[in-house]
Amino acid sequence: MNILNIFKRKSSRKVFVIGLDCADPKLVFEKWKDDLPNLRHLMESGIYGKLKSATPAITVPAWSSMLTSKDPGVLGFYGFRNRADYSYEKMTIAMGDKVREKRIWNYLSKAGLKSTVICVPQTYPVRPLNGHLISGFLTPNIKSDFTYPFSLKKEILSVEPDFVFDVKDFRTDDKDRLLDQIYTMTKKQFNVVDYMLKNKPWNFFMHVVMGVDRIHHAFWHFTDTEHFRYEAGNQYENAIRDYYIFIDQKIGEWLNQLDKHTSVLVVSDHGAKRMDGGICINEWLWRNGYLHFKNNPKKGQIRSFDEMEIDWSKTKAWGSGGYYGRLFLNVKDREPNGIIPPEEYENVRDELIEKLKAITNPEGENIGTRVFKPQDVYKSINNIPPDLIIYFGDLLWRSVGSMGYDGWHTYENDTGPDSCNHAEHGLFILSDPKNKKHNRMIEDAQLMDIAPTVLSIMGQKVPSDMQGKVIS
Ligand SMILES: [Zn+2]
Repeated sequence: MNILNIFKRKSSRKVFVIGLDCADPKLVFEKWKDDLPNLRHLMESGIYGKLKSATPAITVPAWSSMLTSKDPGVLGFYGFRNRADYSYEKMTIAMGDKVREKRIWNYLSKAGLKSTVICVPQTYPVRPLNGHLISGFLTPNIKSDFTYPFSLKKEILSVEPDFVFDVKDFRTDDKDRLLDQIYTMTKKQFNVVDYMLKNKPWNFFMHVVMGVDRIHHAFWHFTDTEHFRYEAGNQYENAIRDYYIFIDQKIGEWLNQLDKHTSVLVVSDHGAKRMDGGICINEWLWRNGYLHFKNNPKKGQIRSFDEMEIDWSKTKAWGSGGYYGRLFLNVKDREPNGIIPPEEYENVRDELIEKLKAITNPEGENIGTRVFKPQDVYKSINNIPPDLIIYFGDLLWRSVGSMGYDGWHTYENDTGPDSCNHAEHGLFILSDPKNKKHNRMIEDAQLMDIAPTVLSIMGQKVPSDMQGKVIS
């Protein structure tokens, strides 16, 4: 192959990725399809489908799993907060420096291709790449060094002097303030995307819109007729739909600016579904004899689990809250005051799995809880995973860690108002001008397929240790 051909191939390998954190396939492919002409156009000119998320289906680790094609066990983080060691208290936060595996742009940098990366989760603190990076949510504030190269920060702040990485307190009753903040954040980030598109060369471009996740959590019950808090004709009935339309219009603007050789990929890290309530995991463990306190919790006095004094000499298991439940066992010779003999470990886990799966709603109907053992869902396990990963009611119920309830069901959220949980399937839409597929729905795609698919479109070899496959 002569040099000119190599140059031609290189110059045509461009991929533009729009990440929509929490965007749900049912909303985009069905419910609001007719309201979203640009996303529909991408579907009609390409392939699309549900994208099975990581286990657990949450932002950290999901985006990094997508971009490395490695599962959370290999990555070694199972949420934002992870056990630092086998002590009871010490936790670490999975910031960007915890991602040890290569992401798409690391492979591209090595191949001499340029990336622009804007607001992708787990990119702070920033690390070098061939191209430009603006870090995403969990960046403390604009005083932080949030760009690579460092000099880019000045440019970004001249475009958007009050650039924001996330909204404050999205679990709030002040819906007007929040809605305003979500739009303000998104517009500022879109202005920066526009600036970067216009001013910096790239082969791979990626921006993640975090506002979709925030608006889902805060406004879901206003729009989902099956949510127990839904009231017909409420003033926020169309808030989520209107935000999707706002994003769709911006996507249309970007599509007009891209050259006809650029592949466009829209992805989400997980989907969204209504939240029916919370299962108080520690109340359940306590009431079933697995967890003991020095002073028993008092009904009506809600206290965080960290405030409780635990009697470790009798405790077999404890849990933590979040969109999914994490359960930890107190194992002899592993935890400081462990009591479960190692040879009993699997028996206790199996017993707990059966009991957790039998949990019902207050009406006595089984809620369809699913429970995973880390070694069954990960290729390998690094750092310290929960002993059990729990999807209460298949994620229609969240996990609540605090104590002081009148049982193990609650309809109030101990971390603030939130009416949406994550769903196991996100979405993808891929429009590849060199490989037109026209409105074809793909079954069985998963998060870890994204990195090999992008590398393949860009003419790169797919590393053999990637766990996903090329979607085609
Ligand atoms: Zn997310």
